[in-house]
Amino acid sequence: MHIFKIYEEADLLEYLGKYVAEKGIKTAWINIMGSLIDPVIGYYDTDKGEYTKKELPGFYELVNGTGNVSLKEGKPFIHLHVAVADREGNLYGGHLFGGKVFLVEALIIEVIGAEPLQREKVDGNLWVWMND
Ligand code: ZN
Repeated sequence: MHIFKIYEEADLLEYLGKYVAEKGIKTAWINIMGSLIDPVIGYYDTDKGEYTKKELPGFYELVNGTGNVSLKEGKPFIHLHVAVADREGNLYGGHLFGGKVFLVEALIIEVIGAEPLQREKVDGNLWVWMND
C-alpha cells in the first residue's frame, strides 16, 4: 500500500505513471483527492467509439478520483475517473485525460501475487481487461 502526496506542478497522469513504473506496480487500485489545474475529462461516446473531451480551465477541487493500474501493451497504464468541483461547487466528472496537480493526496493499493491485469482493444478506442 502506498500513501503519499503530490505537491509539485506535474501532470497527474504522468506523475502516477512514472510512480507505478518506478515501483514496479502492475495491478493496483487508486484513490485520490486534492486539487487540479486545467483538468481535461472525457465521456466515451458508444455510437462513435471514441471519447469526447471537455477542457476545464482553471482551478478545481478534486473531490474524488478512483482508478486502477493494469498493463496496456505490456506497460503499466493508469485508468482514472474524477469528480472535480468549481468555485461554486458545480461538479464535473469523467475519464481523466490530463490536468496539472496543485496538491493531491494519493492511495495506491497494489495487488500482489496475482497475474497482472492486461488490457486489450475491443471496440473503437476502448481497452478492456481480458484476464480478470
Ligand atoms: Zn475511463
